[in-house]
Amino acid sequence: MTEIHGPGGPLPTIPDDLTVVQFMLDADHISRPKVVGPNVWLVEDATGRKVTKEEILTRVFGLANELSARWSIKEDDVVCIFSPNHIDYPIAIWAVHRLGATLTTANPSFTANELEYQLTITKAKAIITHPSALSVAIDAARATGIAADRIALFNHQSPVNTSTVYPMIDQLVSAGLSKPAYFVERRLRPGEGKTKLAFLSLSSGTTGQPKAVCIPHHSPIANVIQMAHLANLQTESWETRAYRPGDVAMALLPFYHIYGLVVIMHFAIFYGMSLVVIPKFNFVDMLKSIERHRINYIPIVPPIVVLLCKHPAVDAHDLSSLRAMKSGAAPLSAEVIRQLSTRLPNMSIGQSYGMTETCTTVTFPQLEQKIGTPGSAGRLLPGIVARVIDADGKLLGFNQPGQLVTKGPGNALGYLNNEQATKETFVDGWIYTGDEVIINEQAEVFVVDRIKELLKVKGFQVAPAELEGHLLDHPDVTDVCVVGLPDEFSGDLPLAFVVPSPSAAERMRKDPAEGGRIKAGLMKYVADTKVAYKQLAGGVEFVDTIPKNPSGKLLRRFLRDYAKQLKAKG
Ligand code: AMP
Repeated sequence: MTEIHGPGGPLPTIPDDLTVVQFMLDADHISRPKVVGPNVWLVEDATGRKVTKEEILTRVFGLANELSARWSIKEDDVVCIFSPNHIDYPIAIWAVHRLGATLTTANPSFTANELEYQLTITKAKAIITHPSALSVAIDAARATGIAADRIALFNHQSPVNTSTVYPMIDQLVSAGLSKPAYFVERRLRPGEGKTKLAFLSLSSGTTGQPKAVCIPHHSPIANVIQMAHLANLQTESWETRAYRPGDVAMALLPFYHIYGLVVIMHFAIFYGMSLVVIPKFNFVDMLKSIERHRINYIPIVPPIVVLLCKHPAVDAHDLSSLRAMKSGAAPLSAEVIRQLSTRLPNMSIGQSYGMTETCTTVTFPQLEQKIGTPGSAGRLLPGIVARVIDADGKLLGFNQPGQLVTKGPGNALGYLNNEQATKETFVDGWIYTGDEVIINEQAEVFVVDRIKELLKVKGFQVAPAELEGHLLDHPDVTDVCVVGLPDEFSGDLPLAFVVPSPSAAERMRKDPAEGGRIKAGLMKYVADTKVAYKQLAGGVEFVDTIPKNPSGKLLRRFLRDYAKQLKAKG
């Protein structure tokens, strides 16, 4: 075997002269599936407010006009969205794209340090946020030199306790609509879509600190077309098709992450679905939303699948509208899928695998099967080419475990201002995923292990290097290595192996109880500055040395195995 191609090609033409907004809002000539039902693109979960394509077009123009007039947002400027999901989130994205500018979307739970890091590496010039994230946005803006009058808020009912008044999107839209056109829409030359940046999304890749992934307009457009093309190949009767235009899809996963951004927001809308926008996760509320809006399609992550299998509230809700569930972003066992198919037998269940760097999906559920092949993370999408290689780079055959290396029209360009990391992951158009997989003759992918450092906690990325760098600044720490402790619900729980500093070791020698206090202190030290999922939920373990190879590289695998032994011992 040399290379494996995702079946179902050839793909429709992927435009390389359109921005994402032009593709989504203006380009009706592209083979968009026929939409059945009302032209409602967005539904606000709490209020049921419906937004049509026509309203979106108007709001996007108004906002773009005002961002240009008020903030002078122009070509290649970077605007940060720092907010939970909001019905105006896509509108903000597409308004920025009308100006030829770029978005960086940030996790609304970030602490000020974490946001400051993202604003700094992306050189963001303005922030669109939400009252729930405003105080962090203000602190991070101040630290990075973004003026207070370059912060705007998504519409909200919540009180805002600040002396400065921040404009809401509605006000910006109205102001923009009351002016003559201030900007000339950025149009791309043929081929330019492959290099013109649409998004700068954070990912730590295979090693090191989080980095900004350079995603050109062509990437999400290509991935959306790949998924839509596959969905169009379904041969089942209309009633039983897993994916259908006119369906209602759930947008619960965060838009700031590539999965929410491309696979949920852009694909579902492009495929003619209405998107119910949910700002915050609460499992029982999610069940109520499914019931209230008669949701058909739920793209989710493994911890939510586990809750669907086990939570007693599931039986108390009418989930009969559900026809398709897709899990992604982290591994899901065959056993959990089996349990879910017993509990919700009428629903198609599948997995997809992808990365920020591959923008986004590399595999998609086997749509002709009710529950996919047990244990598989889906089948290669049409247009994807995959190689499986061993540690020496030698090509392996079907059913042999090795690193997945993949090429597809959605691949991103590299990491912003980080040539070294780019060279390691993006090689001649191929992406070295750092994931160990098996691929069978049906192009089905089974994720066996993660070779790279990256941890995934409930589907969220945690970069060990970020936590290690932080812990090394603590006076009780001489050396440290963070690995993942396997956990059925969260995937990984970050666990720090710590070599205590001489003074900490001396205190522990004098008083054995001091060890517990130091561990608690280190956990608090991380909790004080990092978002909840990065905290050391796997605990702290003291060791004499951190194993390293002769060139000083941490031997993580050794400590990962040790962590598994600790877990087995309980
Ligand atoms: P992100 O860039 O945050 O989407 O993270 C990408 C990483 O998440 C991949 O390299 C995998 O390690 C992991 N991942 C994504 N989808 C899956 C899946 N279906 N099964 C197992 N791991 C996954």
